[in-house]
Amino acid sequence: MLEVDHIKPFGIILTEFLAAFAMLDNRLFARELFAIAIKYKPFWDKKNLRALCRRCNWQRVIDEKKRRPSDYEKIETILK
Ligand SMILES: [Zn+2]
Repeated sequence: MLEVDHIKPFGIILTEFLAAFAMLDNRLFARELFAIAIKYKPFWDKKNLRALCRRCNWQRVIDEKKRRPSDYEKIETILK
């Protein structure tokens, strides 16, 4: 079974996106940010995707979480 993964980590793309639109408080403008995100090309760049088997993908997530815990905290805050 293959899983699709971002080569440039999603957490970094998201951090850059939020920095670019920092004037929009993500608690107040979640709907607007979502609409912008749909048109924000780095999220949807097919060249930034690769397929990994499930085991490699899990390992990648674990390694990344150890390396950049702050990105995951940001994602979790936004998804709440
Ligand atoms: Zn593998």
